[in-house]
This record gives sequence, structure tokens and C-alpha cells, in this order.
Amino acid sequence: MIIEGKKMLTNSNELLSPLTLAQLLLARGDLVAIPTETVYGLAANALNAQAVAKIFEVKKRPTFDPLIVHTYSVEQLARYAHSIPDEAYKLAEVLMPGALTLLLPKQAHIPDIVTAGLPTVGLRIPKHPLALELLHGLDFPLAAPSANPFGYISPTTAEHVRAQLGDAIAMVLDGGACSIGVESTIVGFPNGEPTILRFGGISLEEIESILGMVVKTFTHSVSNPSAPGMLASHYAPKKPFYVTTSGNLEAFSKGFLQKYAPEKIGVLAFKAGLAHIPAENQLILSPTADLNEAAQQLFGAMRRLDNLPVRIILAEFVPQNGLGRAINDRLQRASV
Ligand code: AMP
Ligand code: MG
Repeated sequence: MIIEGKKMLTNSNELLSPLTLAQLLLARGDLVAIPTETVYGLAANALNAQAVAKIFEVKKRPTFDPLIVHTYSVEQLARYAHSIPDEAYKLAEVLMPGALTLLLPKQAHIPDIVTAGLPTVGLRIPKHPLALELLHGLDFPLAAPSANPFGYISPTTAEHVRAQLGDAIAMVLDGGACSIGVESTIVGFPNGEPTILRFGGISLEEIESILGMVVKTFTHSVSNPSAPGMLASHYAPKKPFYVTTSGNLEAFSKGFLQKYAPEKIGVLAFKAGLAHIPAENQLILSPTADLNEAAQQLFGAMRRLDNLPVRIILAEFVPQNGLGRAINDRLQRASV
């Protein structure tokens, strides 16, 4: 079978299912954007250092920022990691497949470019059926960060990926809108203690209830970029983005109205908009105050506001529980 460039790929769609095509492209070292339940990933063969290098090029991602490696079953974890703590298996058995990444001591055959030279590898099993089927059909794992230019809002639909990276990558495998909408929760074991290093699609409460203990969190290492998705400014729209405490949006906006006309202000509200800003400039994350729905809507809403003819975007934090921690983390970083 010959696959030569984009045109042939499009023409051969009739012959190959998108899934098979994605598998062929990945096997020959190309990049494919893949759906997951968290956000879309930009995937390459994790055992092929040259293929992985393309991810950093296309995303303009600094090489000190390590990538998460995706596989399809808990049994596979020991192929890529060693000395796996009991607590890691406890979490894996309940939460994998799912929005959990475990940082574990890496096996030597994982290329250094994947882990940015760190001795640990981030491992995840995505829950999206198409991603799992894709991974089952490959004899290598996939390194995949979010499929967006470094530092910008993460993509939660195939269209988001096409709009920004469509010309630079071999294929976007369309699996619909992401059901969770924020990245995975990252758990590491510094000094042997389970520690949350990035809030994400699995809540702190759920992790604590599985482990039966209070779990440490260490998610604001602003000066240490080797830690997960942790640069202070990240997930950021292009427009100036200001965030205020939960429920304070109305008072907060009054200050900005002295400088900006109402139609130049975009609003990202949790459950209700503001009376004095045009309705078409306002996006509401969840009218029923459901934090899961709010997480699912978050990045798409940020993108839509970024593309409106407004000058600034105002947002409010959400309650700090469940997925609210992950939402607030992304809002905070978008505002730096
Ligand atoms: P992304 O997939 O773009 O959300 O990025 C994944 C995040 O996981 C990155 O910001 C990495 O810093 C983090 N990560 C992946 N592997 C490791 C590792 N071995 N040690 C520490 N952080 C990691
Ligand atoms: Mg990312």
C-alpha cells in the first residue's frame, strides 16, 4: 500500500477506515491527533525518538516539558515502568482507563526525549473507545501531549485541532467532543508518598477515597517547569483574561466598564451572566452549577470568547471541590 502525502490520504479514505489509517501513519513515524476523554492529544510512537521530536517541533513545546505515554491496559504499565508502588496499582485498578496519569520510574527503553531526561515516565490509559481501539492495534505506546500550540487553550474537538495544527500534521482522528474536557490528574510518588501534581479530570476526593488517606497536593511549582503542566502561564487565550473570586463577577466587571464599552467585554460565567453586558458576549459554563458540565465546556468557551470581537475577557472562579479544582487551576493560569 502506498501512502504519499495528504492528497493520497484523502483519496484513500474509501479504502481505509480512519482508525486503520491512523495506525499506519503512527507506525511509520507520523503525527496523528487523537481523541481522548480529557482533551485531544498529538500522538507519536513513544518508542521512536525521531517521531516524538516532531511533537515538540509542531507544538513549539520546550524540550524540558515531558510527555505523557498512553497505553491500553494496567498489565502494560510494567512494560514501561518499574518499582510500581502498591498505591499506584490501587489507583490504577479503579481509575484506569480514565483521566489519571501516574508518574513512575521509567524503563530504560523509553527514550529520554519523552521524559525530558527525567527518571520517571507519566503513564495513562485513555477511556475514549476510539483511542483504546487505536492503542490495542499498535505494538508501541503513544506519547501525546495536548494537540495545541504550546501555552494556548487545549483542544476539546477535532475542529479545534484542525484550526490550529491541521496543516502541520498527517491526520486528525475525529472522535467527537471530549466528555471530560480538562486534562488528566497527575499523581506522582515523591519520597514514596502519593502526591497530586496537577488537578484534572479525576477529583482529589475520589483519589483520597480510593487510597483511604489524605493526599498531598503540590500543584503550584511555578519555577519548576519539569513538573506537570505547571508553567505559571498556560492554557491561555490571546485576549487579556481576568479572573475574580466565585460570585464576585458583577462587582468585578463594574471596574472594567469605566475603561471598556459593554460590547467590548467578554464574560465567562459559572452559572449566570451579567445584566449589563450583551448576552452574545457571555458564555455560561453550567446553568445548573454542575462542575462536571463546567469542566466539559471550559476550553471551548474560552476559545469562543477569544474569537469574539471583544477586547478583554472576565471570568470567575468556581467552587473549589470536585472538578472545580481543575477548572480553577486552568482559569488561574489562563489569567497570568
Ligand atoms: P499535556 O499532555 O500537554 O497536558 O502535558 C502533560 C504534562 O505532564 C506536562 O506538562 C508534563 O510536565 C507532565 N509530565 C509528563 N511526564 C512527566 C514526568 N515524567 N515527570 C513530571 N511531569 C511529567
Ligand atoms: Mg498541554
